Amino acid sequence: MLADVHLQQDPAASLARAQSPNVDIVLAAATDVTTSRINVFLAEKYGQVKACIGIHPWRANLFTPETEKAMAELIQKGKVTAISETGIDLVRRMGDNFLTELQPLPLEVQVKAFHAQVRLAVNSNLFLVLHDRGSTREIFKVFEDFEDRTLRGIVHGFSGTVDEAREYRQQGFLISINKRYLPAINPVLETLTLNEIVLETDSNEPARVVDVCEAVALLKKETKNKVAEVTTANVKKLLGPGLL
Ligand SMILES: [Zn+2]
Repeated sequence: MLADVHLQQDPAASLARAQSPNVDIVLAAATDVTTSRINVFLAEKYGQVKACIGIHPWRANLFTPETEKAMAELIQKGKVTAISETGIDLVRRMGDNFLTELQPLPLEVQVKAFHAQVRLAVNSNLFLVLHDRGSTREIFKVFEDFEDRTLRGIVHGFSGTVDEAREYRQQGFLISINKRYLPAINPVLETLTLNEIVLETDSNEPARVVDVCEAVALLKKETKNKVAEVTTANVKKLLGPGLL
């Protein structure tokens, strides 16, 4: 059994391809209200898809009180497992078609959208899937406002340092491994146990989570089965019994 914690979009054909390597859990990431709605629809349709809703930091300017209301309404439907993805990106911003590279949105715009989504997560008992690009300090600053609450979740496509990974672990976050950042984050992976990581493709092809599993197994000197088993159990723990 495997779990891919970051499916970018849809649907049938790629999910079918994911059946043979036994990818049983796929977290579908959202970027805006439309993709959030699609994810709830997909989760209703496909058992292995777990719905995530969220406004991506590249789209933080779209976050309005209406957006927040729409997200709260989607949560009411009972299928939403996480706010994904949310966070802060100080490095770049991809435009509407995800092809044009633009300057990041102003920090205050991103912080406002992120803060509201962290609040939504803690109030609705959802976990967070974080997008952190050069913004660990800014993300932790937002977390300070939630000191008395329990935060949990995943840092998706982790590309930070050993120290940053440790800090995230202390905050209750798992480190999500994407093949794209290997071998750059090999030193980070070396400091983590299998209990502290999850796997992701960040693509439309959850079947390819097998490749990530293989790479991690090689580096951690574990069997692929062991890596698959532990990382999937980590995801299940996040999801909780009600949403499996
Ligand atoms: Zn991301």
